[in-house]
Amino acid sequence: MLKSLAKSMLNRISALAGPQRWPLSQPRLWILMYHRVLPRAEALAQREEPGMYVTPETFDLHMRTLGEWMTPVSLSDWVRRRADNQSLPRRAVAITFDDGWRDNYTHAWPVLEKYSVPATIFAVSGMIGTARMFWPNRLMQLLAAREDKRQWPAGLEWLAEIAPMKPEQLTTPETLSELVQACKQFPDIELYKRLEAAPATTAAASAAQTMLNWEQIEQMQASGLVEIGSHTENHCRLLESLAPEKAEHEILASKRMLEERLGKSVQSFCYPNGDVSAHAAQLVTAHYRLAVTTQRGINGPNQDPYRLKRIGLHEDIANTRTAFAARLSGWR
Ligand SMILES: [Zn+2]
Repeated sequence: MLKSLAKSMLNRISALAGPQRWPLSQPRLWILMYHRVLPRAEALAQREEPGMYVTPETFDLHMRTLGEWMTPVSLSDWVRRRADNQSLPRRAVAITFDDGWRDNYTHAWPVLEKYSVPATIFAVSGMIGTARMFWPNRLMQLLAAREDKRQWPAGLEWLAEIAPMKPEQLTTPETLSELVQACKQFPDIELYKRLEAAPATTAAASAAQTMLNWEQIEQMQASGLVEIGSHTENHCRLLESLAPEKAEHEILASKRMLEERLGKSVQSFCYPNGDVSAHAAQLVTAHYRLAVTTQRGINGPNQDPYRLKRIGLHEDIANTRTAFAARLSGWR
């Protein structure tokens, strides 16, 4: 009795806090940014960063709740309707996934189908169907495989110069995240080179299963619910320091490859890490219809279609209705 009372009070509070109660004079678009949908045990086994995943149960809660509060739309549809001056829902919400993780197929897609919620997956074209790993994941794998925790992994002794901690302190998700942040002072190409040069570990075999393959993408696309966008070819941050021809390749070759393999025009783009140089922005504007950033916020009817804001979701901050509502409100 008490428990159900507390629960209903919580629901009331979340209903008051949630964006479904905002008086809106103009249509808005919420774009939710997910990466992985993974059971907690698998996330721990893969040493995934806490900011990278929600569990399938939490994802189910989100999709169910959105159906009650807002109008789920396809991102490209919303942008097209707006360009054509067609009417837009007051509270539109679009789901996006970054990187093209295989769990989007195994754990997210069944939930999207269950609630008929459209989504856009921003795939890194050069990683589809390969055993390649993102450098942070590779770094985590090499750190975990160390026999002596007081040492940096063989071949990665250079970490000592940039790490704000000692190797034996790398035991919590927070310190591991700090190390990833410290590594970002190097260009991605350099990081891939340095990490791929380190001796392989026995755990490397498990990497083969982490990214989507073409068949899975085709199957999701054929359902009509999932659209594929580009997230570059190699997940290169499009910084001012990146060579212009490299930026051009990342932005255009990924689009070409996806279009050739999937037989569909690719009009949506996602900037890796949210970084974008003036040159990259020009290219994206010339070749795509829309682009999403990592800038947090809700989009009004006049938001630049090449600077769409998103709200990032992950397990630790959004695993209850109340927390989810507060996150959507932009409170935290
Ligand atoms: Zn990404």
